[in-house]
Amino acid sequence: MKIGVLGAGQLGRMLAIAGYPLNHQFGFSGSSNDEPSALLGHMFIGDDSVDSLVNFADVITYESENTDVEIVKAISKTTPVYPSEKSLFITQHRGREKALFNQLNIPCAPYQMVSSEQDLKDAVSMIGLPAILKTATEGYDGKGQFLMRDKSQIAEAWTSMNGVDAILEGFVTFKRELSLIAVRDINNNHKYYPLVENTHHDGILRLTIAPAQTIDAEVQKTAEYYMQTLLDEMNHIGVLTIELFETDNGLVVNEMAPRVHNSGHWSIEGANTSQFENHIRAITNQPLGDTTPTYLFSAMVNIIGEIGDIDTVLKLPNAHLHLYDKTERTDRKLGHINITANSEQELNNTIERLQEFLPNE
Ligand code: AMP
Repeated sequence: MKIGVLGAGQLGRMLAIAGYPLNHQFGFSGSSNDEPSALLGHMFIGDDSVDSLVNFADVITYESENTDVEIVKAISKTTPVYPSEKSLFITQHRGREKALFNQLNIPCAPYQMVSSEQDLKDAVSMIGLPAILKTATEGYDGKGQFLMRDKSQIAEAWTSMNGVDAILEGFVTFKRELSLIAVRDINNNHKYYPLVENTHHDGILRLTIAPAQTIDAEVQKTAEYYMQTLLDEMNHIGVLTIELFETDNGLVVNEMAPRVHNSGHWSIEGANTSQFENHIRAITNQPLGDTTPTYLFSAMVNIIGEIGDIDTVLKLPNAHLHLYDKTERTDRKLGHINITANSEQELNNTIERLQEFLPNE
């Protein structure tokens, strides 16, 4: 099939790499021929890039929850778009997401929507402090967030939102950050990857351990139940990711993304079928692939800001390098390294050897 991707970043690039062995072709709409996907298929740029992509494609998908819903709505009249407009509409707004979690009895932080300084004052009285003020839309990698510890910060916190709608969330004291990735196909089949553990630094994901260690079967089951409820409610087709906090009182869902996710990159070498291939299978109406891990332990280390000494990576037998053809820039995700291991010691030794790629903390 001819698959059109709205966007041309690293996720599109890895979707194409996964889709070619299945005989699919790819097109991308983006802003320049320098984007990570540009050499992986037909690249459509300029004012009519979306129209050209739709002319090219049998099915359309997207790389980002910030994709314009109106564009997806218009395309859907002639060409199937997966995940559909409903998943996109909900997941691109933190307030809509939280309202859905509450409707489905999925635990999440208490929250209030805020669109003025007075709203923020009222929200702080209701939720208490500490709390996190976040832009309702378009936040990523910890951007557009303000951690409030004291009422004296109300004016400063509101100013930092630059007048856009925001959400105040109660602060969740968590033990670990986890995520769950799953895929649902057109015939309502579901497949789940194991919960993974994510470590962030300065709001950016640095390290994923897959599967997360010492997770009870019950906890995995609970996370899968939340996921299934969300997949079915949104009639979601393709990959869906939910980010969760592990707390003393169980799992609390933070947010979700209607797409393949950075915390699922380990699955390229670490699972029988990667998240990328399964997304392609789902949106092309092909049978979903097995999500079982191929190794007892996998990890993913992000390469951020600078490429670093890649020969160190290439010399390690159980490290797998994935670069995205991006130029170096502070805080930019340039690639990642997947590690595969059959013992915890082997995993930790390799992570140790890759310390230069991780922040010293
Ligand atoms: P987000 O953009 O919502 O993923 O937030 C970025 C990071 O901020 C998360 O990975 C958490 O480390 C932290 N964070 C976000 N929301 C909360 C919360 N309600 N309570 C505690 N920490 C949070």
